Parts: sequence; C-alpha cells; structure tokens
Amino acid sequence: MNILVFGPNGSGKGTQGAIVQKKYTMPHIESGAIFRKNIGGGTELGKQAKEYIDRGDLVPDNITIPMILDRLKEADCKSGWILDGFPRNKVQAETLAKALSDAGIALDYVVEIVLPRDVAKLRITGRRLCVNDNNHPNHIAFDAIKPVEKDGKLVCRVCGGELKTRADDQDDVAIDKRHDIYYDDKTGTMAAVNFFKGLGGNTKVISVDGRPSIGEVSEAIMQQLA
Ligand code: AMP
Repeated sequence: MNILVFGPNGSGKGTQGAIVQKKYTMPHIESGAIFRKNIGGGTELGKQAKEYIDRGDLVPDNITIPMILDRLKEADCKSGWILDGFPRNKVQAETLAKALSDAGIALDYVVEIVLPRDVAKLRITGRRLCVNDNNHPNHIAFDAIKPVEKDGKLVCRVCGGELKTRADDQDDVAIDKRHDIYYDDKTGTMAAVNFFKGLGGNTKVISVDGRPSIGEVSEAIMQQLA
C-alpha cells in the first residue's frame, strides 16, 4: 500500500503518519526528518538544506526531488510506503506522479488532514522532538502525547529520550512562510494536493478534519484505509 499524507505544519500529519506506519509496518518517509537527520549528522546535504529550513523556505527542488525519488527506490519501499512532507509544490507533485507512473507504481491513497491556518499555527510552537526517534511525537499542549517529567526536565513520553524544539517552530516569520507555501493553491502545497486529488483512477482520497483529538483523527483515517 502506497500512501501520500498532506497537512499543514501543525496538523499532526507526522503523528498520524507514525500511527499508520506502526499499524501497517511500512517505512514512514518524512522529507523534513531526512533533512534534519542530515543537518544533525553534518552531511553535505544537511549543509545545503539548513539555511532554507531555518528561514521556512522550501529546499530547492533539484536537491529535494532526487533525494525522495532515490529513497523510494530503496528495498524497504518495495511493499509499500507512507510519504509525508513531499510533494510540497506543484512541480514536485507532477514529477512524483510521472516517476511513479514510469515505474509502474500505484498510488493507493491520498490522505489530507484539513486544518484552518490559525489553529495550525497555535499547535506548532508546542511540539517537541525526541532526539532518539522521530516517530515518538511529543506535544506540551496535548495530553495524549505530553512529554513526561524526569529529574525536573521534560523527556520523551515513549523512550525517556532528550527533547528538542525545532528552530523553525519557534520563529514566527518561518512559521508564516511555511503556511504561505502550504495554503498556496496556485503553485504551492495545496496545488499539489489538488493535483493528486484530481488524478482519479484507483487512487482513493481520504480527507479528514484535523481539529479533533489525535485518536479521533487517526480513527477517521484508519476507517477508510483498507
Ligand atoms: P517539515 O518537517 O515537513 O515541517 O519540513 C521542515 C522543512 O524541511 C520545511 O520547512 C522545508 O524547508 C524542508 N522541506 C521538507 N520537505 C520539503 C519538500 N518536499 N520540498 C522542499 N523542502 C522541504
């Protein structure tokens, strides 16, 4: 099963992606997490991507597109994947659709988490990243995924690992820029969403309201996934 997940920053798309990944045991490919891993590891790719990410800009397509298409060719993707954070614009969407079609790979589901922009912004600043595992979502404002306190410090609720905030999550200008890109339906991410929603064929579109609790949103998604 191959799945694309869309949702603005702050919509819980990473959290929902992690839940789907766990249930179906498929790789959860997050473009943003790949960049952050490379930045953390001091790789050439990380160095190239960092300045764009810190500003809230998209990393250029000539870096991002091959990175993701190469990742999808790896052995663990043969029996399915969940792709999150890519495509982020219309060019990426068209390139991905062509690459999948050329490789004879079907896209089974497009999951769209719908969230008003003001709600998404409020949610961003409270999230915390586990340094051990990106699929351990933590958020100081949501009981279900609240970090736990240990020795006077907040740590990952799943593994007790150290928690970090993302620089681009604490920067108002960067948050607004990321949302400008997401909600842009001419060339931005909403254009990519609409492109895939309009593909037709055997691709099923699952649009869910992102405002209820994590459990309710995941239930709404799971009910519609085969
Ligand atoms: P995310 O973790 O999805 O919020 O992504 C963090 C940052 O990584 C974004 O603000 C972009 O700078 C960069 N990024 C992630 N995915 C893409 C993409 N598909 N195209 C370009 N840049 C991306």
